[in-house]
Amino acid sequence: MGMMTGQEYRASLRLVKPDVYFLGEKVKSVVDHPAFIPHVNAAALTYDSALAPEFEELASATSHLTGEKISRFTHIHHSHEDLIKKVKMLRAIGQQTGSCFQRCVGHDGLNSVYSVTYEIDKKKGTSYHERFLKLLREIQTRDLMVSGAMTDPKGDRALAPSKQQDPDAYLHVVQRKADGIVVRGAKAHITGAVNSHGHLVMPTASMTADDADYAVCFYVPVDAPGITHIFGRQTNDTRKCDCTLDQGNEEYGIVGGEALIVFDNVFVPWEQVFMCGEYEFAYPLVERFATAHRQNYGGCKTGLADALIGATYLLAEAQGAQGATHIREKLVDMVHLAETLYCGSIACSCQGYALPAGSYMADPLLANITKLNVTRNAYEIARLAQDVAGGVLATLPSETDWRDPRVGKYVDKYMKGATGVPTETRMRLIRLLEAMTCGTALAESMHGAGSPQAQRIMIWRQANLEHKKRLARKLAKIKE
Ligand code: SF4
Ligand code: FE
Repeated sequence: MGMMTGQEYRASLRLVKPDVYFLGEKVKSVVDHPAFIPHVNAAALTYDSALAPEFEELASATSHLTGEKISRFTHIHHSHEDLIKKVKMLRAIGQQTGSCFQRCVGHDGLNSVYSVTYEIDKKKGTSYHERFLKLLREIQTRDLMVSGAMTDPKGDRALAPSKQQDPDAYLHVVQRKADGIVVRGAKAHITGAVNSHGHLVMPTASMTADDADYAVCFYVPVDAPGITHIFGRQTNDTRKCDCTLDQGNEEYGIVGGEALIVFDNVFVPWEQVFMCGEYEFAYPLVERFATAHRQNYGGCKTGLADALIGATYLLAEAQGAQGATHIREKLVDMVHLAETLYCGSIACSCQGYALPAGSYMADPLLANITKLNVTRNAYEIARLAQDVAGGVLATLPSETDWRDPRVGKYVDKYMKGATGVPTETRMRLIRLLEAMTCGTALAESMHGAGSPQAQRIMIWRQANLEHKKRLARKLAKIKE
């Protein structure tokens, strides 16, 4: 099997049987359930993009292992150009989905585990990297979608993994056997988890010798025995089941679709284990993954902002407000804020560097700055979109009432805007703006790829403030 189309990806998901629960029900088929269809569609677009003539330059790559054409989402970066192309690809796909397309998390996980396993082996004489290459080759050849499962539930935030009252608050090894390990715990908020083929599980924090059982990294198929997925709620998610227009973004949804993944004594064969007890490598893995994912956010979120800015302008036109100076000013502000994010992602890619394994990573300081800017700019962009839209964003009657034979004519008459623009056009734009700026979508910009505080910690570590102090002392002619 080689690269898949979106349809082939959907067909491949039918062959795996993960345990998935949503709203108290066990889900029979993720591909056919309305709660997941938009997320599957968004991920499917990453497959179609790699084969589409207008996108393949960005969305595909050449495998350094096989020399074959592969999806960029399974590629290991080997140059600045690779890092830049990733950002451009994310923007291009985000413009089309207006929502998270999920596949980047696993991609960043693959790149991080690739470089860290190489370094563990150099220091410890282990053979994790070779094992990982075998898996990577399979993922590239079969074009698999892999989730990046890093965040643990974390229990009491004041306590280290090994000091928690509930030892499962962080995922850990409970048994080492001749043929593999048994793990227990959970990974929370995992994007694309229910429509992936496998999970790449990584530790979530720096660890000490006491936490050695928690320093574990491995791959498992989504339907391995003992794994349960519990899908998260999203703002207005029941609209996926009872309407179309009111969803705002019926085809691709409002966010990636996150799940809690429970590992209840899951067996993992040694061939799929890439760290087991090497606690000193937990932090480098976290840092590399965080850098790679934070690098992304000025790519995908700028793509989303492009669509949102377009929707805002169209809505202004649909309401006859496009000629007002303040509307133009607000649109300029939105573009300024969005392109600032893009500048950050391109800059951290250009300033990236090679790691000992030969792969490339983005500049950590600039990647963290980019993501921290997203936690602000995305909200400001949304605020401006809501400002232009008007209060109707929160009060628009439902699609059902608009279609109702008794009151539909009133909704149509009184919800109409500019002359010549059908009410339906205005309603569609209002709902799209609602989907993109209210609720879950924005929280994703705040906490996806780590909370602002996580970025601030890395900025503090990377900022080289001693150097800045030396500069000041020299100028002020102060001796050390
Ligand atoms: Fe990809 Fe952006 Fe979604 Fe992260 S938030 S998985 S970078 S689309
Ligand atoms: Fe995300």
